[in-house]
Amino acid sequence: MSDYRLETKCLHAGYTPSKGEPCALPIYQSTTFKYDTTDEMGQLFDLKAEGYFYTRLQNPTNDAVAAKIAELEGGVAALLTSSGQAANFYAVFNICEAGDHVVAASTIYGGTFNLLAVTFKKLGIDCTFVDTDASAEEIADAFRPNTKALFAETIANPALVVLDIEKFASVAHQHGVPLIVDNTFATPINCRPFEWGADIITHSTTKYMDGHGLQVGGAIIDSGNFDWEAYGDKYHGLTQPDESYHGVVYTKQFGKKAYITKATSQLMRDLGSIPSPNNCFLLNIGLETLPLRMERHCSNAQKTAEFLASHEKVSKVIYPGLPGDKYHALAEKYLPNGSCGVISFELEGGREAAVRFMDSLELANICTHVAASKTMVLHPASHTHRQMNDEQLREAGVSPGMIRLSVGIEHIDDILADLEKALKNA
Ligand SMILES: *Cc1c(COP(=O)(O)O)cnc(C)c1O
Repeated sequence: MSDYRLETKCLHAGYTPSKGEPCALPIYQSTTFKYDTTDEMGQLFDLKAEGYFYTRLQNPTNDAVAAKIAELEGGVAALLTSSGQAANFYAVFNICEAGDHVVAASTIYGGTFNLLAVTFKKLGIDCTFVDTDASAEEIADAFRPNTKALFAETIANPALVVLDIEKFASVAHQHGVPLIVDNTFATPINCRPFEWGADIITHSTTKYMDGHGLQVGGAIIDSGNFDWEAYGDKYHGLTQPDESYHGVVYTKQFGKKAYITKATSQLMRDLGSIPSPNNCFLLNIGLETLPLRMERHCSNAQKTAEFLASHEKVSKVIYPGLPGDKYHALAEKYLPNGSCGVISFELEGGREAAVRFMDSLELANICTHVAASKTMVLHPASHTHRQMNDEQLREAGVSPGMIRLSVGIEHIDDILADLEKALKNA
């Protein structure tokens, strides 16, 4: 499978039916799996044999979809979670504990910002946020001896800041920590962060990967490239015996799959944020058409961004595909085939005009959702980023009058006509 192109992998990776087996990925809607002897099952509990016993740990439907996503990103293993939030929580918590510290780009999704700034703090894990555009030296200044990870998004939701992945990877590696990149908006179709030095990738599969707004889900993919044993004391959870699992040493027993195996057998066992097999089935259908949809999302968004940029009621358009955009050069480097379907823009009339505009749309739905087939629109200051004060909003790259438009795959003329009409009323 590894020689095939992404378009082919989206259809075929992860599940290869044998003679007489279903062509569609079967839904193993079962909590548990049967064995004939006590010993057979015991081997599984000791992590000595591979096999299914309980869906919280592994399920054939879920694993097939995880394997597909791992192939799409070029990783060695992947774990699916019940949401993108759970994926980011596990990705960090798998290598951090009380007393540790992480560094994160400030322009990240509001939910992830809260997770790192508030909830991790309660667990005794501190986070320092750095300007995504800061120099390598400035980012390095945020590191402490107890820093365990650097975190950022390929294309920040909703600020649309494009990450200089190589810059972040080099700072992370100079400090002996992995770079974790949330690749939700770019998807592996438009960017493969492992090729630029990222070590771990996360996704909210709720977005483009699903694409139809059917399921909330997440994924964590490991490149297998980070050398945990080179920093054995720092990552003792991976390199020293896990007393809660018969003293297994993940790096010794699982090599390049150590990180994902630990996340599954420890975090999933104890915290249990699994996706249902039925949701994984739905996600898999979305993945099959991901390349086609991303192409259309990007071409529609490009035309929409150009339309908005030339409209007199629009004061600012943020879209990496626009030549004047602050991140155009980075987008050309990291996202040569297109960035995503999401555009941020501001109206001349600020917050009130934004609300009037939103309420005048007919085709575009007001939804707390982005990155799906249907065109959707959201006002971050009153929705996703509501918990933030103005200062935090500014740091996250969100202004009070900003509108986040998620351009769908409808006919472009219908999208533009809807926007034109709403802009008249704004
Ligand atoms: C939506 C989103 C998340 C959170 O994912 P859920 O599936 O909603 O839990 C995390 N990161 C990014 C970039 C997102 O867009």
